[in-house]
Amino acid sequence: MTFSHISHLSCAKCSFVYKPDEVHQLCRCGSPLLVNYDLSSISMKVKRAHLLNRSNDLWRYHELLPVQHPDNIVSLGEGMTPLLPMKKIGQEMGLPRLLMKDESLTPTGTFKARGAALGVSKAKELGVKAFVMPTNGNAGAAWSLYAAKAGIEAVIVMPVAAPPFIRSEVAATGSRLFFVDGLISDAGKMAAKAAADFHLYDASTLKEPYRIEGKKTMGYEIAEMMDWQVPDVIIYPAGGGVGLIGIYKAFRELQQLGWVDQGKMPRLVAVQSEGCAPIVKAWQEGKMESELWRDSKTVAFGINVPKALGDFLVLKAIYETNGFALSVNDEEILEEQKRIVQTEGAFVCPEGAATFLAARKLGNAGVIDQKDTVVTVNTGMGLKYLHVDEQNTPVLQRDGYIKSLIDE
Ligand SMILES: *Cc1c(COP(=O)(O)O)cnc(C)c1O
Ligand SMILES: [Zn+2]
Repeated sequence: MTFSHISHLSCAKCSFVYKPDEVHQLCRCGSPLLVNYDLSSISMKVKRAHLLNRSNDLWRYHELLPVQHPDNIVSLGEGMTPLLPMKKIGQEMGLPRLLMKDESLTPTGTFKARGAALGVSKAKELGVKAFVMPTNGNAGAAWSLYAAKAGIEAVIVMPVAAPPFIRSEVAATGSRLFFVDGLISDAGKMAAKAAADFHLYDASTLKEPYRIEGKKTMGYEIAEMMDWQVPDVIIYPAGGGVGLIGIYKAFRELQQLGWVDQGKMPRLVAVQSEGCAPIVKAWQEGKMESELWRDSKTVAFGINVPKALGDFLVLKAIYETNGFALSVNDEEILEEQKRIVQTEGAFVCPEGAATFLAARKLGNAGVIDQKDTVVTVNTGMGLKYLHVDEQNTPVLQRDGYIKSLIDE
């Protein structure tokens, strides 16, 4: 029995076909490549119930993943994160069927581990010895950790403004870390130059085809954990938008396998920060591609992406599922984050909080119905963002603190 049922890669724009067992980056036309599988043979050989006996991580879906030999798997135990009912805050929002896919429990603390697990495993399988990657922080940290485990050399390029916490995480792995005085797009230019100059594998978002295969497993897990029911709405904090493209791909594949209802897709909602909302702007204008967002800025640094290579795929996923795109401001995000911690005990990251805020706003606006099953994706742990709130942390004096508590 074949471990992976990968058949070929194909260009997301011009449909040109590539072989699966060679190193590829972008298509010759400059667009991202997507991975295709022999879905009809999977649907004959694998039944949903078979999954129940498998490992409790994302490798349970191995036929639908690109790694062809299990020996090449580089795993830190990623996947199968909880899908938690958010009853209290959902009730308060008027959305009693609110759920959270909680990626804070992933190795490395963000869902970037999924992309890194697949990206690094497949790189290992293809014989890659070193890669370069531009990152806002979380992807660089995740890829560095998996690269360390794989014995692959990682060169990471980050904006200087990336959180110190994450710099330390990357530095600890022994990756070679470089800083640029600019945004992720500037880091991307530097990485592209380094890739050309030093013949490195370019692991930039969507320049390698496999991280999307890791991120799509969030879609499989949501379906499996809902006993193969399709939720009405999934809300995702979109930066490069790979997670959203992945979730869309996952549900399409599940439909073709006959594992979920063929007539229903979840409505996919992209939320961005008002300080960086190129996808939202394009969606509002009914466009198929976004424009570069100048001087982007947001506390939710994971979604600070001024122009995404896969923007047309994100927009397509939103249009085709009758979805929605909206932006929210940083101040509101941080307020929502507090509300979530204080009602549900979940210390979500700002990006995750933005999805709850989007649910609240779309509920109020009547875009989402109170009968809808709504899944918010908390893409990472709040603990990675302590720098955001440092000024507000109360410092209690040793002497007199009990007294001050009693006085209140
Ligand atoms: C990278 C990141 C995102 C955005 O992910 P994409 O799939 O690239 O849009 C959201 N949240 C966090 C915490 C991230 O690190
Ligand atoms: Zn092409």
